[in-house]
Amino acid sequence: MFEIRQRDGLARIGRLTTPHGALETPTLLPVVNPRKLTLAPAEIRDCGATGLITNSYIISRHAELRERALADGVHALVGWDGPLMTDSGTFQSHVYGDIEVEPQAIVEFQRDIGSDIGTVLDVFTEPEFDADRAEAELAETQARITAAVPLKGEMLLAATVQGGSHPALRERAAAQVSTVDADMHPIGGVVPLMEQYRYAELATLVLAAKRALVPARPVHLFGCGHPSLFALAALLGCDLFDSASYAKFAADGRMMFNWGTRRLAEMEELPCGCAACSTTSADEFKALPAEERERQLARHNLLVSFAELRRVREAIREGLLWELVVARAAGRPEVGDALAALEPHGDWLEQWEPAFRPRQPTAIREPLLRFVRGRLTRTATDGPAFEHPLFGAVPETLADTAPLRPPGNVRQRSWTPERVHAIAAFQFGGAAADALLGGKVELVTSRNTGRLRNVLVDGEHRLSLSARYGRFTLRAAGACVIHAACAAPQQRVVVHADSAEFNRQGRNTFCKFVLECDPDLRCQDECLVVTESDELVAVGKLKVAPAEIILGQQGLAVKVREAV
Ligand SMILES: [Zn+2]
Repeated sequence: MFEIRQRDGLARIGRLTTPHGALETPTLLPVVNPRKLTLAPAEIRDCGATGLITNSYIISRHAELRERALADGVHALVGWDGPLMTDSGTFQSHVYGDIEVEPQAIVEFQRDIGSDIGTVLDVFTEPEFDADRAEAELAETQARITAAVPLKGEMLLAATVQGGSHPALRERAAAQVSTVDADMHPIGGVVPLMEQYRYAELATLVLAAKRALVPARPVHLFGCGHPSLFALAALLGCDLFDSASYAKFAADGRMMFNWGTRRLAEMEELPCGCAACSTTSADEFKALPAEERERQLARHNLLVSFAELRRVREAIREGLLWELVVARAAGRPEVGDALAALEPHGDWLEQWEPAFRPRQPTAIREPLLRFVRGRLTRTATDGPAFEHPLFGAVPETLADTAPLRPPGNVRQRSWTPERVHAIAAFQFGGAAADALLGGKVELVTSRNTGRLRNVLVDGEHRLSLSARYGRFTLRAAGACVIHAACAAPQQRVVVHADSAEFNRQGRNTFCKFVLECDPDLRCQDECLVVTESDELVAVGKLKVAPAEIILGQQGLAVKVREAV
């Protein structure tokens, strides 16, 4: 089960529950090779790992490992009691050509050794293959996925999206895997793109898959293990990463940073505060015996990776992930190429924009610009305006309303009915604002701060102000006014009768009961919960993008504030 707890565009913070515990995503599953452990699993845990991935193909091909895995389970074999994913040999087929294993047998083997997440043996389609070959291989991958599903038992099944470097095939593959009873969807066949820093192509292909993947399942970016790539991968909606890079780079004397890679031999100082670096110097590090140096380099690589993942998750919580990716592009220009490759998809990405973020954006990009410009057409623009560094001319009346608040801390203090109208129109549209404020308007302000708290009209409490965001929350009386003034589907989330009964009691609305949604609503917008016959039952905050609901999202849809 995968529960999404926070969103920023396509990115999300989730919790994936497995038979051996939960993973908070986005996270990295370090690869452990049961035949050669650079670091013991306990050391990997100390670096921040909560899950591991190992290769069932290697285990199955080694008589002794195979026997021990079947007898005691793969967790005992690896020495790890947390979530453990297994790969199936697909990557070995990419490296070594044909491999000797039956696709169904390797799924059964993963199930029988107690893997928490097993992977279908898909066909690794190389990026240079033409569309015909990629399509033929995709058909084989799909057939193997279909055959694997009935074999999975209690194991979560990872069904990979292939399709080579052809976005249309990737999108079709994603639509197909979304219909089978799988639990996770890796994006496969992209390691050559990452190795060659072809991040723009990588971004285009991941986005093509995301257009059709059911958002309720986690997405795994196979082979993504460099900390400079985590922020971008999370921005594209990937939840899990795996890699042996931390160990491979260490064996080669290389240190990973979130801004790039350096050879220890070439460094005069260690620009790192991790537990492996902070108590030593570059010269002391270089002087370590080879085996110990490799161990410490592997520790550094993992510590840096997990620190970056914490940063990524915190950026998602703050709504500053795009800004973090821009910062990463400073060290790795190919990350910037990937951001540029997203521009033509601004129209689609705009649907995933939240109505506002916890912190003000400082990096401009197409989806945000489209969203803000669209919303600004709802308000009067003939009054005084200021020049916002990202959005251009913005009415003064909206200077303290997210996401239009300019950098710095200049706050407007005076509250007028015109300003209230401008904010209401920006949030709900001009007609709704006219209706909400049609009558005798009373502005209730705080005696200490002078800030607006509530808006009463004809004695009815219709709006409350969130001072932090300079935005209104709708009260039941306000919802009734919008409901009467604006025709369906405006501002509405239409729910099944079974849900309406609960929502009437003030309980939340879940995606699977949503029948229809105003396509102009965005995640974090105020919304009306109505029945199929447009009876208003509750008011609350939309917690998903309508685009997500259409793609089959589950979980919370509307956090209901008040029943009506
Ligand atoms: Zn370090």
